[in-house]
Amino acid sequence: MNMKKTKVLYQHGTLALLVPGLFAGTETLGKLLEHGDTGIGTLDGLNGELIILDGKVYQVNATGKVNRIKKREKVPFANVHYQKDQFIDKIGPLKDEKLRSAILDKLPSQNLFYAVRMTGEFANVKTRAVAQQKEPYPTLKQTADAQKVFEKAHVKGTLIGYYAPQLYGGVAVPGFHLHFLSKDHSFGGHVLKVDSVATKLYLQEFAQLDLHLPAKNKAFRKQKPSKDILKDIASAEN
Ligand SMILES: [Zn+2]
Repeated sequence: MNMKKTKVLYQHGTLALLVPGLFAGTETLGKLLEHGDTGIGTLDGLNGELIILDGKVYQVNATGKVNRIKKREKVPFANVHYQKDQFIDKIGPLKDEKLRSAILDKLPSQNLFYAVRMTGEFANVKTRAVAQQKEPYPTLKQTADAQKVFEKAHVKGTLIGYYAPQLYGGVAVPGFHLHFLSKDHSFGGHVLKVDSVATKLYLQEFAQLDLHLPAKNKAFRKQKPSKDILKDIASAEN
C-alpha cells in the first residue's frame, strides 16, 4: 500500500451545489475510492444514500433495499477518508439528542473535521433515502416528497459519518452528517434519529479538507451563485 493520508478528509462536491438541484454524478466511485476506504454520499440523481465501509460501497435506495454498487457509478456529493480511528468510549443507552451531545462532548475540538463511527447495538434507528431524480432536476427542497423514511428497533450495525464545524456549513452539512448500515445489510440510510443501547464510539481527526469541485460539469459552471446560500440550505434541510 502507498502512504495513506489518514489526516485528510476528501470531499467531492458541496452541499451548496445540491440546493439548486445540481444532482448529476460528476465523479466515479472508482476515482472517489482513490482517496479513502470509508465514507458516505449519494449517487447520480440523488439516488439513495451511500455507506462506504472497507472500500465496499453500499446504497440504500428509496425502497429501503441495500445494494452493492459498482465503481463506474457516479456521485454528485460524497466524503471519504482512510479509516484509522481511535476508540473513545462506550456510549449508551442514550436517546438521539443526548447521544449527539455525548458525541459532541467527546470531540477533542469543535473546530476540526472528524469521522464519527459507532458500532454495536442500537435501540432504534430512523433513516431516510431519497428516490432518484430525473432531469430537469428539482431543487433539493422539492425532493422532500421523494424521501422515504424507514425505522428499525433493536438493530446491530455501524453508524458512519462526519462532524463539520458550523463555519463550513454550505461546503458540508454543519454538525453531524451520519449514515447507518445494519450488520446484516438489510437496513440503513441517512440518519434522522438514532437511539443507542450499547455502542462503541470511534473518532478520527482531520487536519486537512481536500475539496474537489466538479470543474468540468457545465451545469455547475453556469449555476448562478445564490445570494443567501446558508438560508437556502436551512430551508432545504428542514
Ligand atoms: Zn446523508
